[in-house]
Amino acid sequence: MKRIKTEQAPAAQNEKQNPIMLVSITGTSEDLQDHDTSGPLKYEAAEVQLEAPAISIQGAAKKVEENNDGVSNEDVGFHMQEFSKTEKEVGQANQEDVTLVADTSAVTKSGKPKIKGVSMIELFTPEQIREHITGLRQWVGQSKAKVEKNQAMEHSMNENSCQLCAVEKLNFDPPPIYCSPCGARIKRNAMFYTWGSGDTRHFICIPCYNESRGDTISFDGTNILKAKLEKKKNDEETEEPWVQCDKCEAWQHQVCALFNSRRNDGGQAEYTCPNCYVEEVENGERVPLPQSALLGAKDLPRTILSDHIENRLFKKLKQERLDRARFHGKSYDEVPGAESLVVRVVSSVDKKLEVKQRFLEIFQEENYPSEFAYKSKVVLLFQKIEGVEVCLFGMYVQEFGAECEQPNHRRVYLSYLDSVKYFRPEIRTVTGEALRTFVYHEILASY
Ligand SMILES: [Zn+2]
Ligand SMILES: [Zn+2]
Ligand SMILES: [Zn+2]
Repeated sequence: MKRIKTEQAPAAQNEKQNPIMLVSITGTSEDLQDHDTSGPLKYEAAEVQLEAPAISIQGAAKKVEENNDGVSNEDVGFHMQEFSKTEKEVGQANQEDVTLVADTSAVTKSGKPKIKGVSMIELFTPEQIREHITGLRQWVGQSKAKVEKNQAMEHSMNENSCQLCAVEKLNFDPPPIYCSPCGARIKRNAMFYTWGSGDTRHFICIPCYNESRGDTISFDGTNILKAKLEKKKNDEETEEPWVQCDKCEAWQHQVCALFNSRRNDGGQAEYTCPNCYVEEVENGERVPLPQSALLGAKDLPRTILSDHIENRLFKKLKQERLDRARFHGKSYDEVPGAESLVVRVVSSVDKKLEVKQRFLEIFQEENYPSEFAYKSKVVLLFQKIEGVEVCLFGMYVQEFGAECEQPNHRRVYLSYLDSVKYFRPEIRTVTGEALRTFVYHEILASY
Protein backbone atom coordinates (compact mmCIF):
# COMPACT_ATOMS: atom_id res chain seq x y z
CA MET A 1 0.00 0.00 0.00
CA LYS A 2 1.30 3.40 -0.93
CA ARG A 3 -0.32 5.34 1.81
CA ILE A 4 1.87 6.62 4.52
CA LYS A 5 0.72 7.84 7.86
CA THR A 6 2.21 11.25 7.56
CA GLU A 7 0.92 14.65 8.09
CA GLN A 8 1.20 17.36 5.55
CA ALA A 9 3.25 20.34 6.51
CA PRO A 10 0.67 22.67 8.01
CA ALA A 11 1.96 25.62 6.03
CA ALA A 12 1.56 23.86 2.74
CA GLN A 13 -1.84 22.65 3.69
CA ASN A 14 -2.97 26.10 4.63
CA GLU A 15 -1.96 27.53 1.35
CA LYS A 16 -4.10 25.09 -0.44
CA GLN A 17 -7.20 25.73 1.48
CA ASN A 18 -9.74 28.37 1.36
CA PRO A 19 -9.02 30.94 4.07
CA ILE A 20 -12.32 30.26 5.68
CA MET A 21 -11.39 26.75 6.51
CA LEU A 22 -8.31 27.69 8.41
CA VAL A 23 -8.75 27.54 12.06
CA SER A 24 -5.57 28.58 13.74
CA ILE A 25 -6.06 31.68 15.67
CA THR A 26 -3.83 34.68 16.21
CA GLY A 27 -3.98 36.77 19.32
CA THR A 28 -3.60 35.51 22.84
CA SER A 29 -6.54 35.45 25.11
CA GLU A 30 -4.86 37.84 27.51
CA ASP A 31 -4.12 40.27 24.78
CA LEU A 32 -7.65 40.34 23.60
CA GLN A 33 -9.19 40.52 27.00
CA ASP A 34 -6.90 43.20 28.33
CA HIS A 35 -7.83 45.51 25.58
CA ASP A 36 -11.43 44.60 25.74
CA THR A 37 -11.81 46.01 29.17
CA SER A 38 -9.82 49.11 28.43
CA GLY A 39 -11.85 50.61 25.68
CA PRO A 40 -11.05 50.65 22.00
CA LEU A 41 -9.69 47.51 20.51
CA LYS A 42 -6.07 47.88 19.80
CA TYR A 43 -3.97 44.83 19.82
CA GLU A 44 -1.21 43.32 17.86
CA ALA A 45 -1.09 39.90 16.46
CA ALA A 46 0.58 37.64 18.93
CA GLU A 47 1.82 34.13 18.91
CA VAL A 48 -0.90 31.60 18.71
CA GLN A 49 -1.72 30.12 22.05
CA LEU A 50 -4.94 28.38 21.40
CA GLU A 51 -5.39 25.35 19.42
CA ALA A 52 -8.52 25.85 17.46
CA PRO A 53 -11.07 23.10 17.33
CA ALA A 54 -10.82 20.68 14.50
CA ILE A 55 -13.25 21.86 11.93
CA SER A 56 -14.43 19.07 9.84
CA ILE A 57 -17.53 17.38 8.70
CA GLN A 58 -18.60 14.92 6.09
CA GLY A 59 -16.59 15.56 2.96
CA ALA A 60 -15.26 18.73 4.44
CA ALA A 61 -12.80 19.26 1.68
CA LYS A 62 -15.47 19.87 -0.85
CA LYS A 63 -16.91 22.97 0.68
CA VAL A 64 -14.97 25.60 -1.10
CA GLU A 65 -16.98 26.06 -4.23
CA GLU A 66 -20.32 25.98 -2.62
CA ASN A 67 -20.77 29.59 -1.93
CA ASN A 68 -24.35 30.58 -2.16
CA ASP A 69 -27.04 32.14 -0.13
CA GLY A 70 -27.17 35.45 -1.87
CA VAL A 71 -23.99 36.69 -0.27
CA SER A 72 -21.47 37.15 -2.95
CA ASN A 73 -18.13 35.48 -3.00
CA GLU A 74 -16.78 38.42 -4.92
CA ASP A 75 -15.25 41.37 -3.24
CA VAL A 76 -17.94 43.81 -2.33
CA GLY A 77 -16.03 47.00 -1.86
CA PHE A 78 -16.17 50.70 -1.98
CA HIS A 79 -13.34 53.14 -1.89
CA MET A 80 -11.06 50.29 -2.52
CA GLN A 81 -7.73 50.60 -4.15
CA GLU A 82 -5.60 48.00 -5.71
CA PHE A 83 -4.49 45.54 -3.19
CA SER A 84 -4.21 41.92 -2.58
CA LYS A 85 -7.53 40.28 -1.96
CA THR A 86 -6.30 37.44 0.06
CA GLU A 87 -4.85 37.73 3.45
CA LYS A 88 -3.05 35.02 5.12
CA GLU A 89 -2.78 35.98 8.74
CA VAL A 90 -5.31 33.49 9.92
CA GLY A 91 -3.44 30.73 8.24
CA GLN A 92 -0.01 31.60 9.35
CA ALA A 93 0.07 29.40 12.35
CA ASN A 94 2.82 26.89 12.27
CA GLN A 95 3.64 23.73 14.02
CA GLU A 96 4.92 25.37 17.19
CA ASP A 97 1.68 27.14 17.64
CA VAL A 98 -0.12 24.05 18.65
CA THR A 99 -0.52 23.71 22.35
CA LEU A 100 -1.62 20.41 23.70
CA VAL A 101 -4.09 20.65 26.49
CA ALA A 102 -4.10 17.04 27.49
CA ASP A 103 -1.28 15.28 29.22
CA THR A 104 1.03 13.56 26.82
CA SER A 105 3.25 11.67 29.15
CA ALA A 106 1.55 8.29 29.14
CA VAL A 107 2.99 5.65 26.87
CA THR A 108 0.82 2.89 25.48
CA LYS A 109 1.16 -0.77 24.61
CA SER A 110 2.05 0.14 21.04
CA GLY A 111 4.93 2.13 22.52
CA LYS A 112 3.49 5.30 21.10
CA PRO A 113 2.67 8.24 23.33
CA LYS A 114 -0.94 8.60 24.24
CA ILE A 115 -2.14 12.03 23.29
CA LYS A 116 -5.63 12.68 24.42
CA GLY A 117 -7.90 14.13 21.83
CA VAL A 118 -5.79 13.16 18.84
CA SER A 119 -9.20 12.43 17.35
CA MET A 120 -12.40 14.19 18.34
CA ILE A 121 -13.99 10.77 18.33
CA GLU A 122 -12.61 10.37 21.87
CA LEU A 123 -15.31 12.74 23.11
CA PHE A 124 -18.10 10.72 21.51
CA THR A 125 -20.26 8.01 22.95
CA PRO A 126 -20.63 4.82 20.87
CA GLU A 127 -24.07 6.08 19.87
CA GLN A 128 -22.63 9.36 18.59
CA ILE A 129 -19.94 7.49 16.68
CA ARG A 130 -22.51 5.37 14.88
CA GLU A 131 -24.41 8.52 14.05
CA HIS A 132 -21.19 10.09 12.78
CA ILE A 133 -20.38 7.15 10.50
CA THR A 134 -23.93 7.03 9.13
CA GLY A 135 -23.67 10.78 8.60
CA LEU A 136 -20.42 10.42 6.65
CA ARG A 137 -22.03 8.07 4.20
CA GLN A 138 -24.78 10.53 3.42
CA TRP A 139 -22.32 12.96 1.85
CA VAL A 140 -24.18 16.05 2.97
CA GLY A 141 -23.37 19.04 0.84
CA GLN A 142 -22.26 17.03 -2.19
CA SER A 143 -23.88 17.03 -5.61
CA LYS A 144 -26.47 14.34 -6.27
CA ALA A 145 -24.19 12.61 -8.78
CA LYS A 146 -21.35 12.53 -6.29
CA VAL A 147 -23.57 11.19 -3.53
CA GLU A 148 -24.74 8.33 -5.76
CA LYS A 149 -21.21 7.57 -6.89
CA ASN A 150 -19.86 7.55 -3.36
CA GLN A 151 -22.70 5.50 -1.97
CA ALA A 152 -22.26 2.93 -4.72
CA MET A 153 -18.68 2.43 -3.54
CA GLU A 154 -19.98 1.23 -0.23
CA HIS A 155 -20.86 -2.11 -1.84
CA SER A 156 -17.41 -2.65 -3.24
CA MET A 157 -15.61 -1.64 -0.08
CA ASN A 158 -12.15 -3.18 0.20
CA GLU A 159 -8.88 -2.67 2.05
CA ASN A 160 -8.12 0.39 -0.05
CA SER A 161 -11.33 2.05 1.03
CA CYS A 162 -11.61 4.27 4.01
CA GLN A 163 -13.14 2.01 6.64
CA LEU A 164 -15.43 4.82 7.73
CA CYS A 165 -16.83 6.56 4.66
CA ALA A 166 -16.23 3.55 2.37
CA VAL A 167 -14.71 5.63 -0.40
CA GLU A 168 -11.12 5.38 -1.64
CA LYS A 169 -9.60 8.69 -2.66
CA LEU A 170 -10.99 11.98 -1.42
CA ASN A 171 -9.60 14.94 -3.30
CA PHE A 172 -9.62 18.53 -2.20
CA ASP A 173 -10.92 21.08 -4.63
CA PRO A 174 -7.83 22.73 -6.02
CA PRO A 175 -7.31 26.36 -5.03
CA PRO A 176 -8.11 28.69 -7.92
CA ILE A 177 -5.16 30.41 -9.54
CA TYR A 178 -5.26 33.65 -11.46
CA CYS A 179 -3.05 35.16 -14.11
CA SER A 180 -1.07 38.02 -12.59
CA PRO A 181 -1.04 40.30 -15.66
CA CYS A 182 -4.66 39.87 -16.83
CA GLY A 183 -6.44 38.51 -13.76
CA ALA A 184 -8.17 35.70 -15.65
CA ARG A 185 -8.62 32.43 -13.85
CA ILE A 186 -6.34 29.69 -15.09
CA LYS A 187 -8.54 26.79 -16.04
CA ARG A 188 -8.18 23.28 -14.72
CA ASN A 189 -5.71 21.23 -16.78
CA ALA A 190 -4.59 24.32 -18.69
CA MET A 191 -0.91 25.16 -19.03
CA PHE A 192 0.51 28.24 -17.37
CA TYR A 193 3.80 29.82 -16.42
CA THR A 194 4.87 30.54 -12.89
CA TRP A 195 7.67 31.83 -10.76
CA GLY A 196 8.26 32.78 -7.16
CA SER A 197 6.76 31.05 -4.16
CA GLY A 198 4.35 31.64 -1.31
CA ASP A 199 2.85 35.10 -1.21
CA THR A 200 4.96 36.30 -4.08
CA ARG A 201 4.17 33.45 -6.40
CA HIS A 202 2.87 34.62 -9.75
CA PHE A 203 1.02 32.89 -12.52
CA ILE A 204 0.85 33.85 -16.17
CA CYS A 205 -1.68 32.49 -18.59
CA ILE A 206 -0.64 31.28 -22.02
CA PRO A 207 -2.32 34.18 -23.92
CA CYS A 208 -0.47 36.75 -21.78
CA TYR A 209 2.78 34.88 -22.23
CA ASN A 210 2.36 34.72 -25.98
CA GLU A 211 1.25 38.31 -26.25
CA SER A 212 4.42 39.62 -24.74
CA ARG A 213 7.08 39.67 -27.44
CA GLY A 214 10.71 39.65 -26.50
CA ASP A 215 12.53 38.04 -23.63
CA THR A 216 10.61 39.57 -20.78
CA ILE A 217 7.11 39.89 -19.45
CA SER A 218 6.13 42.99 -17.55
CA PHE A 219 3.36 43.89 -15.21
CA ASP A 220 3.05 46.12 -12.17
CA GLY A 221 6.28 47.76 -13.15
CA THR A 222 8.39 44.62 -12.92
CA ASN A 223 10.07 42.86 -15.78
CA ILE A 224 10.52 39.15 -15.55
CA LEU A 225 12.78 37.19 -17.80
CA LYS A 226 10.74 34.63 -19.69
CA ALA A 227 13.59 32.19 -19.28
CA LYS A 228 13.04 32.28 -15.53
CA LEU A 229 9.45 31.14 -15.79
CA GLU A 230 8.48 27.58 -15.21
CA LYS A 231 5.82 25.99 -17.41
CA LYS A 232 3.27 23.89 -15.57
CA LYS A 233 -0.08 22.22 -15.94
CA ASN A 234 -2.90 23.12 -13.61
CA ASP A 235 -3.70 19.56 -12.68
CA GLU A 236 -2.33 19.25 -9.19
CA GLU A 237 -4.40 17.08 -6.90
CA THR A 238 -4.42 17.21 -3.16
CA GLU A 239 -5.68 14.11 -1.50
CA GLU A 240 -7.26 13.95 1.90
CA PRO A 241 -4.56 12.44 4.15
CA TRP A 242 -4.96 9.01 5.75
CA VAL A 243 -4.39 7.61 9.20
CA GLN A 244 -3.94 4.01 10.29
CA CYS A 245 -5.43 2.54 13.44
CA ASP A 246 -2.76 1.23 15.80
CA LYS A 247 -5.09 -1.50 17.00
CA CYS A 248 -6.86 -3.00 13.97
CA GLU A 249 -4.56 -1.45 11.34
CA ALA A 250 -7.46 -0.19 9.25
CA TRP A 251 -6.81 2.90 7.14
CA GLN A 252 -9.14 5.84 7.29
CA HIS A 253 -9.31 9.37 6.00
CA GLN A 254 -8.19 11.79 8.66
CA VAL A 255 -11.28 13.90 8.11
CA CYS A 256 -13.61 10.91 8.51
CA ALA A 257 -11.85 9.87 11.70
CA LEU A 258 -11.96 13.48 12.95
CA PHE A 259 -8.25 12.96 13.37
CA ASN A 260 -6.29 16.07 14.16
CA SER A 261 -2.85 15.66 12.67
CA ARG A 262 -1.69 18.78 14.48
CA ARG A 263 -2.09 17.02 17.77
CA ASN A 264 -0.31 14.00 16.41
CA ASP A 265 3.13 14.85 17.67
CA GLY A 266 5.35 14.11 14.70
CA GLY A 267 3.16 11.21 13.61
CA GLN A 268 3.93 9.32 16.81
CA ALA A 269 0.68 9.49 18.73
CA GLU A 270 -1.26 6.32 19.21
CA TYR A 271 -4.45 6.34 17.21
CA THR A 272 -7.49 4.24 18.01
CA CYS A 273 -10.06 4.21 15.23
CA PRO A 274 -13.78 4.74 15.90
CA ASN A 275 -14.53 1.03 15.52
CA CYS A 276 -11.90 -0.07 18.04
CA TYR A 277 -12.82 2.82 20.27
CA VAL A 278 -16.47 1.77 20.40
CA GLU A 279 -15.35 -1.73 21.33
CA GLU A 280 -13.14 -0.42 24.13
CA VAL A 281 -15.90 1.78 25.51
CA GLU A 282 -18.42 -1.02 25.38
CA ASN A 283 -15.98 -3.39 27.09
CA GLY A 284 -15.50 -0.83 29.81
CA GLU A 285 -11.81 -0.35 28.93
CA ARG A 286 -12.18 3.37 28.51
CA VAL A 287 -14.67 6.17 28.87
CA PRO A 288 -15.30 9.07 26.52
CA LEU A 289 -13.29 12.16 27.40
CA PRO A 290 -15.23 15.04 28.94
CA GLN A 291 -16.30 17.74 26.48
CA SER A 292 -13.86 20.08 28.20
CA ALA A 293 -10.88 17.96 27.09
CA LEU A 294 -10.76 19.78 23.80
CA LEU A 295 -11.17 23.46 23.26
CA GLY A 296 -14.15 24.50 21.19
CA ALA A 297 -15.17 27.62 19.31
CA LYS A 298 -16.69 29.12 22.44
CA ASP A 299 -13.26 28.93 24.10
CA LEU A 300 -11.81 31.29 21.54
CA PRO A 301 -11.24 34.73 23.05
CA ARG A 302 -14.21 37.08 22.92
CA THR A 303 -13.99 40.72 21.99
CA ILE A 304 -16.39 43.64 22.26
CA LEU A 305 -17.13 43.20 18.59
CA SER A 306 -17.77 39.46 18.78
CA ASP A 307 -20.01 39.93 21.84
CA HIS A 308 -21.94 42.62 20.05
CA ILE A 309 -22.48 40.52 16.94
CA GLU A 310 -23.46 37.48 18.98
CA ASN A 311 -25.88 39.35 21.22
CA ARG A 312 -27.63 40.99 18.35
CA LEU A 313 -27.70 37.81 16.32
CA PHE A 314 -29.21 35.78 19.16
CA LYS A 315 -31.80 38.48 19.82
CA LYS A 316 -32.79 38.56 16.16
CA LEU A 317 -32.92 34.77 15.99
CA LYS A 318 -35.20 34.67 18.99
CA GLN A 319 -37.50 37.24 17.40
CA GLU A 320 -37.48 35.33 14.13
CA ARG A 321 -38.37 32.10 15.90
CA LEU A 322 -41.22 33.81 17.73
CA ASP A 323 -42.53 35.20 14.45
CA ARG A 324 -42.28 31.80 12.84
CA ALA A 325 -44.06 30.13 15.74
CA ARG A 326 -46.84 32.69 15.61
CA PHE A 327 -47.12 32.32 11.86
CA HIS A 328 -47.60 28.56 12.17
CA GLY A 329 -49.89 28.91 15.16
CA LYS A 330 -47.43 27.05 17.38
CA SER A 331 -45.51 27.81 20.53
CA TYR A 332 -41.89 28.95 20.54
CA ASP A 333 -40.60 25.54 21.58
CA GLU A 334 -42.57 23.72 18.92
CA VAL A 335 -40.67 25.27 16.03
CA PRO A 336 -37.00 24.49 15.38
CA GLY A 337 -34.33 27.07 16.08
CA ALA A 338 -30.63 27.42 15.40
CA GLU A 339 -28.48 25.94 18.16
CA SER A 340 -24.85 26.17 19.23
CA LEU A 341 -23.83 29.22 17.24
CA VAL A 342 -20.62 31.02 18.14
CA VAL A 343 -19.24 34.20 16.57
CA ARG A 344 -15.61 35.15 17.13
CA VAL A 345 -13.16 37.71 15.86
CA VAL A 346 -10.20 35.43 15.39
CA SER A 347 -7.69 37.88 14.06
CA SER A 348 -7.15 41.61 14.40
CA VAL A 349 -3.92 42.96 13.03
CA ASP A 350 -2.53 46.25 11.83
CA LYS A 351 -1.68 46.32 8.18
CA LYS A 352 -0.62 48.75 5.52
CA LEU A 353 -2.06 48.99 2.09
CA GLU A 354 0.61 50.12 -0.33
CA VAL A 355 -0.65 51.88 -3.38
CA LYS A 356 0.86 50.46 -6.50
CA GLN A 357 3.36 52.51 -8.42
CA ARG A 358 1.34 52.73 -11.58
CA PHE A 359 -1.74 53.85 -9.71
CA LEU A 360 0.29 56.60 -8.03
CA GLU A 361 1.62 57.76 -11.35
CA ILE A 362 -1.86 58.04 -12.82
CA PHE A 363 -3.18 59.99 -9.84
CA GLN A 364 -0.03 62.05 -9.38
CA GLU A 365 -1.78 65.43 -9.45
CA GLU A 366 -4.18 64.52 -6.71
CA ASN A 367 -1.39 64.10 -4.21
CA TYR A 368 -2.54 60.60 -3.60
CA PRO A 369 -1.17 58.92 -0.46
CA SER A 370 1.30 56.13 -1.07
CA GLU A 371 -0.07 53.98 1.70
CA PHE A 372 -3.11 53.49 3.91
CA ALA A 373 -2.98 52.01 7.39
CA TYR A 374 -5.83 49.74 8.36
CA LYS A 375 -6.83 47.06 10.80
CA SER A 376 -7.62 43.74 9.30
CA LYS A 377 -10.12 41.56 11.12
CA VAL A 378 -11.48 38.12 10.57
CA VAL A 379 -14.95 37.28 11.83
CA LEU A 380 -16.07 33.65 11.86
CA LEU A 381 -19.34 31.91 12.64
CA PHE A 382 -19.23 28.39 14.05
CA GLN A 383 -21.94 25.87 14.70
CA LYS A 384 -21.58 22.62 16.56
CA ILE A 385 -23.02 19.96 14.28
CA GLU A 386 -23.07 16.32 15.36
CA GLY A 387 -20.51 17.04 18.02
CA VAL A 388 -18.12 18.82 15.70
CA GLU A 389 -17.50 22.51 15.51
CA VAL A 390 -17.97 23.64 11.92
CA CYS A 391 -16.96 27.01 10.54
CA LEU A 392 -19.93 28.04 8.40
CA PHE A 393 -19.29 31.62 7.51
CA GLY A 394 -16.38 34.00 7.55
CA MET A 395 -15.54 37.50 6.54
CA TYR A 396 -12.37 39.52 6.29
CA VAL A 397 -12.79 43.22 6.86
CA GLN A 398 -10.35 46.07 6.57
CA GLU A 399 -11.01 49.02 8.82
CA PHE A 400 -9.55 52.32 7.78
CA GLY A 401 -9.63 54.64 10.76
CA ALA A 402 -9.95 58.33 11.46
CA GLU A 403 -6.19 58.85 10.99
CA CYS A 404 -6.32 57.32 7.55
CA GLU A 405 -6.22 59.74 4.67
CA GLN A 406 -8.93 60.17 2.07
CA PRO A 407 -10.45 58.50 0.18
CA ASN A 408 -10.27 55.66 2.68
CA HIS A 409 -10.80 57.82 5.75
CA ARG A 410 -13.21 56.06 8.14
CA ARG A 411 -14.14 53.37 5.67
CA VAL A 412 -14.66 49.67 6.00
CA TYR A 413 -13.82 47.41 3.14
CA LEU A 414 -15.34 43.98 3.06
CA SER A 415 -12.46 42.15 1.54
CA TYR A 416 -13.64 38.57 1.59
CA LEU A 417 -16.79 36.75 2.49
CA ASP A 418 -17.63 33.11 2.20
CA SER A 419 -19.99 30.52 3.56
CA VAL A 420 -20.72 26.82 3.34
CA LYS A 421 -24.13 25.25 3.28
CA TYR A 422 -24.12 23.23 6.49
CA PHE A 423 -26.20 25.46 8.70
CA ARG A 424 -28.83 23.71 10.80
CA PRO A 425 -31.76 23.67 10.76
CA GLU A 426 -32.29 23.93 7.03
CA ILE A 427 -35.51 25.90 7.21
CA ARG A 428 -37.00 29.13 5.98
CA THR A 429 -38.05 32.23 7.84
CA VAL A 430 -41.60 33.54 7.51
CA THR A 431 -40.42 35.94 4.86
CA GLY A 432 -39.22 33.00 2.79
CA GLU A 433 -35.45 33.31 2.94
CA ALA A 434 -33.32 30.48 4.27
CA LEU A 435 -32.61 30.82 7.98
CA ARG A 436 -28.89 30.60 7.26
CA THR A 437 -29.14 33.59 4.93
CA PHE A 438 -30.95 35.44 7.68
CA VAL A 439 -28.06 34.65 10.02
CA TYR A 440 -25.37 35.76 7.58
CA HIS A 441 -27.22 38.99 6.89
CA GLU A 442 -27.61 39.67 10.59
CA ILE A 443 -23.90 39.19 11.16
CA LEU A 444 -23.17 41.68 8.42
CA ALA A 445 -25.76 44.12 9.71
CA SER A 446 -24.46 43.81 13.29
CA TYR A 447 -20.94 44.41 12.14
ZN1 LIG B 1 -13.28 8.36 4.62
ZN1 LIG C 1 -3.29 36.44 -18.51
ZN1 LIG D 1 -9.17 0.15 14.74
